[in-house]
Amino acid sequence: MNVLVVGSGGREHALCWKLAQSSSVAAVFAAPGNAGTGLVPKVNNVPIATDKFDKLVQFALQNNISLVVPGPEQPLVDGIESAFRKVGILVFGPSASAARMEGSKAFSKDFMQRHAIPTAAYKTFTASQYTEALEYTKTCGHRVVLKASGLAAGKGVLIPETPEETEAGLKDILLDQVFGSAGNEVVVEEYLTGPEISVLAFSDGYTIVPLPAAQDHKRIGEGDTGLNTGGMGAYAPAPVATKEVMQQIHREVLQPTIDGMRREGYPFVGMLFTGFMLTEKGPKVLEYNVRFGDPETEALMLLLSEETDFAQVLLACAERRLDSVSVVTKPGVAVSVILASEGYPGSYPKGREITFPAQLPSNDVAIFHAGTSLQNEKIVTSGGRVLAVTAYGASVRAALDAAYNVVDSVSFEGKTYRRDIAHRALDDSTLPSKGLTYA
Ligand code: AMP
Repeated sequence: MNVLVVGSGGREHALCWKLAQSSSVAAVFAAPGNAGTGLVPKVNNVPIATDKFDKLVQFALQNNISLVVPGPEQPLVDGIESAFRKVGILVFGPSASAARMEGSKAFSKDFMQRHAIPTAAYKTFTASQYTEALEYTKTCGHRVVLKASGLAAGKGVLIPETPEETEAGLKDILLDQVFGSAGNEVVVEEYLTGPEISVLAFSDGYTIVPLPAAQDHKRIGEGDTGLNTGGMGAYAPAPVATKEVMQQIHREVLQPTIDGMRREGYPFVGMLFTGFMLTEKGPKVLEYNVRFGDPETEALMLLLSEETDFAQVLLACAERRLDSVSVVTKPGVAVSVILASEGYPGSYPKGREITFPAQLPSNDVAIFHAGTSLQNEKIVTSGGRVLAVTAYGASVRAALDAAYNVVDSVSFEGKTYRRDIAHRALDDSTLPSKGLTYA
């Protein structure tokens, strides 16, 4: 079959790379893709933007596409699934109704409340309720987190430390609309503490199959310091997500979510990404995303075993028969280290030539492109996050060694990265490498 992947980041490169390995896949098309996707055997870039649904559908009809895999959230929230459904092409991704679980935090919080899914206590307010919102933050009896309800490119969450910061944050979101219309509503939520994990799970609307839990590194600086970014690295599995924790999550959150969505008339097909805080009172949901995470996906693609035909798993979800295929992961660890442009997440230069190692040591290592482009037949930087160097190994240490060896052999002016990816796994007292930090 032919598959169309929609998007242009490291996540989409990793998806194309894995899809191209499926024996049932004849060709993969990436719209628009990046300099890296164009290098993968069987993958072709198509210069169509992710919001041009008519053109994407026309291309899919002309090129015998059997399955569409949208990467980013915006096209899903905007209804890309129905554009293809109307012409009879299957999509691995939710309908616009189901995508509200990411598109509106107010919607997802109300959903969790209706279905008794563990999450932080909350209340939702609109701009006209600014005074009530402020009053609530003073009387609710707990520290609060402020969330713009709509899509805000991962930036809409404020964690104020004082009553003054809380007031300023509420004003920013509701009155000054610093997150635009994403802040038409604000979710004022109870502040939780504990380790965070991300659980990505395949679903066909009935069955839900989670992959091993991942942890990502959002801050630019080592030791999780400095400004927030789109993610500077990730690894899986996270040791805090023990078998018992994963079973509890499946029972108390994942299955009730899928069942609740189906019963309310918007079944979830695609990748459900749930962010959790592992609190003293058990795992609580921080957010739902309705698509693959970036950079978690880069690591997870290397964790899937050769027995898993990835394209067939996605197709089985779209055909509502996930229970007919198996999802098998390898026993070791995968890590992904982001190489960014200097200055990121602030302003950064573009167009710097990148040199790559002539060869990668094995199939357990991959360099996924995030922000690259071709200029005069040379690969140059074109984004803040440039590459995701990803490796699989039998242990955390082995995976890190493999990844950082490749990091050292990639060069471009201003190359910036963190040397402490997966430090939480190395710090974990249950692991043999306790006490070591990676440098
Ligand atoms: P979200 O987009 O909702 O996952 O929030 C982004 C980040 O804000 C999370 O990864 C957490 O680190 C933090 N966060 C979100 N909700 C809470 C909460 N209720 N308590 C403490 N931190 C939170």
